[in-house]
Amino acid sequence: MIKEDLGRFIIVILFSLLAGLLTSQIAICLVAGITLYGIWQYRLLHQVYDWLQSHSESNPPEQSGIIDALCSEIDFLQSRHKQRTRKLSGFLKRYQQATAALPDAAVILGEQGEIEWANSKAADYLGVRWPQDNRQRIANLIRHPRLSEFLAKKDDQERDKGLQLESPVNKTQMLEFRLIPYGDAQKLLMARDITEIHRANQMRKDFIANASHELRTPLTVISGYLEGFDDDKEQFQERAQTQIKQMRIQTMRMQRLIEDLLTLSVLETTRKNPLNEVVGVPDMLTHIYQEAQEVSGIMNHIFYLESDLDLWIKGNHRELYSAFSNIVFNAVQHTPAGGVIRMRWYQDKEGAHFEVIDNGEGIAEEHLHRITERFYRVDKGRSRDKGGTGLGLAIVKHVMVRHGGKLQISSEHGKGSNFRCDFPVTNIVYKSSGGAKSSLSA
Ligand code: ADP
Repeated sequence: MIKEDLGRFIIVILFSLLAGLLTSQIAICLVAGITLYGIWQYRLLHQVYDWLQSHSESNPPEQSGIIDALCSEIDFLQSRHKQRTRKLSGFLKRYQQATAALPDAAVILGEQGEIEWANSKAADYLGVRWPQDNRQRIANLIRHPRLSEFLAKKDDQERDKGLQLESPVNKTQMLEFRLIPYGDAQKLLMARDITEIHRANQMRKDFIANASHELRTPLTVISGYLEGFDDDKEQFQERAQTQIKQMRIQTMRMQRLIEDLLTLSVLETTRKNPLNEVVGVPDMLTHIYQEAQEVSGIMNHIFYLESDLDLWIKGNHRELYSAFSNIVFNAVQHTPAGGVIRMRWYQDKEGAHFEVIDNGEGIAEEHLHRITERFYRVDKGRSRDKGGTGLGLAIVKHVMVRHGGKLQISSEHGKGSNFRCDFPVTNIVYKSSGGAKSSLSA
């Protein structure tokens, strides 16, 4: 190509020189020749420009030399681009057809939460109509603070938990929202109908709460009578006395179980934010420390309590008491006589922490990930004998989740355990008493 252009240029120069020689005006003829050549090249480029501007499907204008090569290259790139666009729109069409057939609502959102596409179920579940609501912000169409908060979530883990909310169109329908980010800044919002699952879950919760309530009263009566028998022991033979004692132990166990079931049920069903009280944890821990010594009794455990007296937190007193005492009493139950139980209440840059360290029996690795499940016990028989219900750590976990915190457990079989409740910095309330620390030991 370059050769062709060069040849043409040399011919122009030679002709100009010849004309110059014939007219004795070499310089003028050379300038005129080169100018004409330039104008001609400019015309050719202009034709190419017009062809590009016309965006037409026609072939590029017939050219020669380097301009022709450029035209062919542009033509090739254009047809490749068209092919790709066709393929992509095919994909998009198939994807939209598949999503449209989904039993769930699907809405594609742009960077600012504006609706870019929605399937037909989105109209039934969310009231989002396509194409009428094109480019409308979803937060303006569905005005619900919890949904706006969910859509603004940046943390992947938080977002993956999803959101359960009634449908804005039909209050009796329960939806589960999922948000899936993709591409540069787009998001796919899915809403699934979970009305039936939600109803079944609610029935399960109600059943546990009702059954526990119903059982509590007869049990209190039975246990009252059994206590009465205890008062006039002499009237009974030794065998009857043993049986009464057994009955009392079993009723106490059932009462504990019912109390734990009720606690769990309340934790599960209470929507109320637990962070509206300020809890004086140091005082609470002193109380638990004393109670733990009583529970330990003749087992003579050695207790330590280190506590930052200025460190209070936002939370629910009853729930936190239940969680902390469960961990401490577990340590007492699972640490042999004379063992050491250390409690710590402290703060670092991550937040506030309550830690219970014991050098007791420990938990083997394979049990650790299931230990907070309801009724999961490493040794069922032994736990029952010690008065355990198998619900203690499930309660602790629930309380921690409700307080925006986490329960961390590390343990080694035969060496001891470490249970730590971590609270976020935002829960801390600082009560200045001059940086006082308390440490107790018994
Ligand atoms: P339980 O009422 O049986 O104590 P929890 O839910 O409180 O139920 O605890 C579940 C199980 O975790 C216990 O049965 C026990 O096997 C184990 N466990 C809890 N705390 C400790 C601990 N400090 N040391 C060893 N094992 C523990």
